[in-house]
Order: sequence, then C-alpha cells, then structure tokens
Amino acid sequence: MLNQNNVILGQNRSAIRELFEYAKKRKTEIGEENVFDFSIGNPSVPPPVEVETALSDLINTASFEELHGYTSAHGCYSVRKVIADYLNGKFNTSLNAECLYMTCGAAASLTITLNALLNEGDEVIVFVPYFPEYKVYTEHARAKFVAVKCEEKTFLPDLNALKNTLSPATKAVIINSPNNPSGVVYGEEIIKNIAEILGDFYKKTGNAVYLISDEPYRELVYDGITVPFIMNYYSRSIVCYSYSKSLSLAGERIGYIAVNNAMEDFLEVYAAVCGAGRSLGFVCAPSLFQKLIERVCGITSDISVYERNRNLLYRALIEYGYEVVKPDGAFYMFVKSPEVDDKAFVERAKRYELLIVPGECFGYKGYVRVSYCVNTDVIERALPAFKSLAESYKLI
Ligand code: PLP
Repeated sequence: MLNQNNVILGQNRSAIRELFEYAKKRKTEIGEENVFDFSIGNPSVPPPVEVETALSDLINTASFEELHGYTSAHGCYSVRKVIADYLNGKFNTSLNAECLYMTCGAAASLTITLNALLNEGDEVIVFVPYFPEYKVYTEHARAKFVAVKCEEKTFLPDLNALKNTLSPATKAVIINSPNNPSGVVYGEEIIKNIAEILGDFYKKTGNAVYLISDEPYRELVYDGITVPFIMNYYSRSIVCYSYSKSLSLAGERIGYIAVNNAMEDFLEVYAAVCGAGRSLGFVCAPSLFQKLIERVCGITSDISVYERNRNLLYRALIEYGYEVVKPDGAFYMFVKSPEVDDKAFVERAKRYELLIVPGECFGYKGYVRVSYCVNTDVIERALPAFKSLAESYKLI
C-alpha cells in the first residue's frame, strides 16, 4: 500500500492552488483582463536591475562548475559569510558562516528546521490564521500541530492562550511576521512577550522551546515600520528566510536557515539541520542563485508598488463597507466575510470575477485573503467589482 497521507495530500490540492488553476482556465475563457486574480502570492514587481546585471555577469564570467556544479550541502562558504555579515551589520548579531544553511526557499527552510527539531509526538504551536503548509510540514515530521488563537481585532498572538497551551511536549513555536494571510507585523513588545513566556516556561519546567521565525516577507513593510529580529530577543531561535518575495525570485527556490549561535545547543541544532537537509534529499540549494545572492544580498525589489496597492485597495474596501485588518506588511489583506460562510462569499465573489481565498484555508473561518501583489491597474479595474459585491450584501 502507498503512503496514504501523501496520496491524500496529492489528491487534495490546496484551495489556493485550486483557485490559481481556476484563474488560468477562466482567463482563457473570458480574457485575461476580465479576471481579477487575487489568489496567490506570486510577486508582480520584477526583480531589481542588480539581479539581472549580476546574473548576466555570472553567466559570462564564472566557470560551469561554479554556475551549475554541486556546492557544499550547507551552501557555499562565501555566500553564507556574506549573509552572516549582512545580518550582523543590520541587527547587531554575531553570526558567522557556520550559522547559515542555504535552502531552496522558505518552504525548504521550514521542512528542514522542523525535521531537525522534531521527534514523534512533539508539539508545534502556530498562531491562527497561519500559512497552511505549516500543518503539512509539521505532520510530515510526525509531530502534532497545535493552533493557538490570535486576538480578535489585532490578529496579534493571544499571549494567555500561548501560556496555557505550552506543555511538556511543546518543542517549537512558529511565528510569521509580516504575516500571511493577515499582513500584520509583530512589534517589539509582542516579540519580547513571547520570548519572556518561553523563557519563563524553560525556567519553571526545564522544557526548551525553539522559536522559529518564518520571514519571507521581512522587507515588505510599510509606513517605515521595522520587523524585530528574533535573535536579539530569544536565544533558542531559528530564522527561516527566503528571497522569493523580497527579490521576486519565487520560482528560483533560494533562501536560508540561520541558527542562532547564542543558543546553548547550537552545534547540535546546526548538525541536525544539516542532517535533516540530507535525509530529506536536499543535496544543495541552486548553485547559480547562491552565487547571485552573494552579489545582491541586502537589495530588494521595488516594494513601493505593494505599498501603493495596499493604500488603494484598503481605502476603497473601507469605503465600500468591508471590515478589513489594515496590513502593515507582506502583500495580503484579510477581509471579514459579510456572511458567516467565507466559502459562500468566495463563491459569490467569483460571479464578479474576483478570485480570493477563503479564511478557512488559514484555519480562520469568516474571513478571506486578498493577495494584492498584482499590477496596480488590476486593482484599479477590480474596484467596481468589489463595489458591486459590497452592494450585493447591502454594505453600501
Ligand atoms: N512561508 C510563508 C508564510 C509563505 O507565505 C510562503 C509562500 O508564500 C512560504 C513560507 C514559502 O515560501 P518559498 O516560496 O520561499 O518557499
């Protein structure tokens, strides 16, 4: 018999992918310009010009082994060194190349980290709403996925709920800020509070809990907001990073894991990361894109486009009577469904050719996610459809 968990996963495509496929089909039926696809987080802003320049320079000057050969399993030393230096300069940490492990994007960073840390029966705490793959990755690592609620209005973690959920089986907490799907950014106070709760829990019980920060949207923040770097607040911390969104390289699969060298068991954790990467069959991250990162580390795509989109969409949706969580980052907006059943709302939105994702996919019913990483003109053209949809619910 086949592995039934995987058969089921393969048969049930995620609702986001389902909508993405529906969008493609619908575009061929009625024309691309008539479908407003807010379903997926595929960056619409091109990579910065530095990416193109560095790529063509690499292709013209580097040897084929350098471009296309295997690298060390944990990544090229020079690349890891550049990233460590960059993080130290920005966040005042003392990381070195030995703290970094290059990956095929945040998805790989997460699966490797979870497999490195987890034994059968361990628990992983995640705040709701959450990126749906956390559940898939956690359960694949034979651990228990434990969802903890956020505060109703702010969508920030409910700290009492976190305290009450910690158990001797808790091995890790995943945070994701800027958040997919809410767009909420966790400020310094919330990070300090989470660190304090986990620190107190360790003092009282001797149970060490790792804090995993999934941050593919770190640089995508608006109004001058900054995202605290967890290593400065909690020693048992691991950052899962990706260049998918910050450099618009989602299809190239490049990112890293940074293990905090201030944690007691750093060497063992880093070894477990290398072991998990090996046992999961990640031979090495793509060579060419590792070399690219060495040259463009610290640069981002033009994120002002997302800020413009956010402002345009947020103002309009509020004007039309929708209840919206104002996003400070990422490129998602979490909108309250005007009817209890978010899936019914999503179906009604389809009648207006608006493709949005039900909150149920993120463990949070009654809301929908609108991905605004589209060209601004798509939003401009979609606004009348959002307005008609609001009118159909008598919101205006
Ligand atoms: N984590 C979150 C919160 C995401 O939104 C995504 C992708 O959308 C990922 C991880 C996976 O990112 P990557 O494409 O770098 O694997």
